[in-house]
Amino acid sequence: MNDILPPDSATWEWLEALVRDLMATYGYRNIRTPIVEPTGLFVRGLGEVTDIVEKEMYSFEDRLNGEHLTLRPEATAGVVRAVAEHSLLYEGGKRLYYMGPMFRHERPQRGRYRQFHQIGAEALGFAGAEVDAELILMAHTLWRRLGLEGVRLELNSLGEPHERKAHREALIAYLEAHASQLDEDALRRLHSNPLRILDTKNPTMQELVNQAPRLMDYLGERSAAHFHQVQRILDAAGVEWTVNPRLVRGMDYYNLTVFEFVTDRLGSQGTICGGGRYDYLIEQIGGKAAPAVGWALGVERVLELVREHAKTPPPPVPDVYAVVPDADSLPRVMQVLQQLRQRGIRVQMHASAGGEGMGSMKSQFKKADASGARVALVFGADELARDAVVVKQLRDGAGVQAEHSLADLSVWVSSLQSQDLT
Ligand code: ATP
Ligand code: MG
Repeated sequence: MNDILPPDSATWEWLEALVRDLMATYGYRNIRTPIVEPTGLFVRGLGEVTDIVEKEMYSFEDRLNGEHLTLRPEATAGVVRAVAEHSLLYEGGKRLYYMGPMFRHERPQRGRYRQFHQIGAEALGFAGAEVDAELILMAHTLWRRLGLEGVRLELNSLGEPHERKAHREALIAYLEAHASQLDEDALRRLHSNPLRILDTKNPTMQELVNQAPRLMDYLGERSAAHFHQVQRILDAAGVEWTVNPRLVRGMDYYNLTVFEFVTDRLGSQGTICGGGRYDYLIEQIGGKAAPAVGWALGVERVLELVREHAKTPPPPVPDVYAVVPDADSLPRVMQVLQQLRQRGIRVQMHASAGGEGMGSMKSQFKKADASGARVALVFGADELARDAVVVKQLRDGAGVQAEHSLADLSVWVSSLQSQDLT
């Protein structure tokens, strides 16, 4: 679990602002659900034999009433609960997005944290492939706006439950016939969740899973058409993709389209975003049956990629730094600073670190320089006595200074934000 400190936090805010803007351009609206939910929600929603439910959840008992609670390991289950609880689909489909911390008790390694952050988008109440494609396009657009390169899109279709059942039988038969080559994890999952065996990272099992029966070959006409339509829309939009028949995703709730955005530039933790359709989850959680599709991206991984391979904006700096030689002037000075801030100027005021008075001019100017501000406003007692302030350049033309009257603040103040102030 990490502390996110300045100046790094500015990069987070920059990403969040980009996402808010992106979501608005696609008509997705913000939802905020609790960090804690009843444990049963995740067990029902994610599936009992998933990594998350088996070993990654932070679960505890409420001391007052014994309720079983869990820090959310992902947000889709909570969003679906909220949508059902508030009958949000009563008037038709909803497009939603969220940002926030998730919790999974995983082994710490690069790109994998126990408190991490996701940004996710969910479209609920829409059955058509166009919404799958819209969500994929939206994520693709985000990578472009972030300046990310080398992000691959992998697609797969998990079909519908009856197609999965037929495939599952064939898969179990195949794996049973090769039981001696299965590792411990695979043996355990053989009958509970055989599809997940295809997702194994064990190198000695790669050949075996490569030859396994492919779900793609069990898709009926409707499922195949849905998948094809997603691909046609992506092609028309100029988004490249490949089919990865072994892409199954970590949660049980997916059907039809699933997808991941993957990069080779983050070591083995290369998936920055994953999602898919989950048409049966809402009913499973106790709501009225409705189709849905969504994705979630890992903020830490996206930002790691951004930092290494794209340009991040410089952290914000104040426009002006207020140098205050004499503590007696503070009430008047702070009145003036309030007026500047009301006009949108970013003001950082010198504050004493302790000891007597405000500190020497030398130490105040040192702080002013370090703040990154372009100018210092020097509120000397003599100038204040004639209702004036000295504006001193700190960057271009450093040292150049001029006196301005506080009475006509509005005449010169706008130039504090532009490059050419004297
Ligand atoms: P993985 O196969 O890497 O464990 P997952 O299938 O568990 O991924 P999802 O639940 O789909 O991942 O979460 C979506 C995204 O959230 C992932 O693609 C990844 O970028 C990010 N993510 C998941 N778990 C973590 C974690 N422990 N630390 C940081 N980011 C994570
Ligand atoms: Mg995982």
